[in-house]
Amino acid sequence: MQTRNDPICDDFFIAKCKQHNLKITPQRTAIYNQLSRSKNHPSADLIFQEVKKPFPNISLDTVNRTLLTFSEIGIVDVVEGHGNPRRFDPDKKSHHHFYCIRCGGITDIYNKEYDNLKTVEEIEQKFIVLSKRVVFNGICDNCVGK
Ligand SMILES: [Zn+2]
Ligand SMILES: [Zn+2]
Repeated sequence: MQTRNDPICDDFFIAKCKQHNLKITPQRTAIYNQLSRSKNHPSADLIFQEVKKPFPNISLDTVNRTLLTFSEIGIVDVVEGHGNPRRFDPDKKSHHHFYCIRCGGITDIYNKEYDNLKTVEEIEQKFIVLSKRVVFNGICDNCVGK
């Protein structure tokens, strides 16, 4: 459980906020802490449910806008929504995703070969590639046979 007194202990978060003149408020810290602790690529609503425990006055809109600000300044990633609410990813290291079409679960996959995936010429000529991620859609081990 997140409490108001949780220390700010993430240098990356602090550095990014300072770099972009984003004030480090207890609410923002709580939102970041909540996201960085979760492994399930939560939506803004899921984070809101947790953060409103220590901060009952916070609104879903504030949480949503804060997360979008975080993603704009490179603190977190927005991941594939698949038509569902936007999901967020605190892991900035290169990694890939397996998306379960039944439960909506997103599993992280770490693989050097995928990291080094070559872009085809068509992409290189047309676009500027900032990052690459391999996304698999399918049925996860929890949902198989259900
Ligand atoms: Zn599943
Ligand atoms: Zn991820």
